[in-house]
Amino acid sequence: MLKMKTQCQCCEKNLSDDMLAFVCSYECTFCDICAETLRFICPNCNGELIRRASSLDCVVSNGKVRKE
Ligand SMILES: [Zn+2]
Ligand SMILES: [Zn+2]
Repeated sequence: MLKMKTQCQCCEKNLSDDMLAFVCSYECTFCDICAETLRFICPNCNGELIRRASSLDCVVSNGKVRKE
């Protein structure tokens, strides 16, 4: 079984399975704060950061990203 990355690559905050986290297609992982700071673009590969599926999914229905 693959182990999920559980640390933000930017601030090294621990991201447990049920926490909001963002990943790019190369599985770079970031916390929600860093993802927003990065404008949801991965600094490693310039890929788009998308919200990682988690048990929070049903809660975060109003957490849509607003582009400014
Ligand atoms: Zn972070
Ligand atoms: Zn990446």
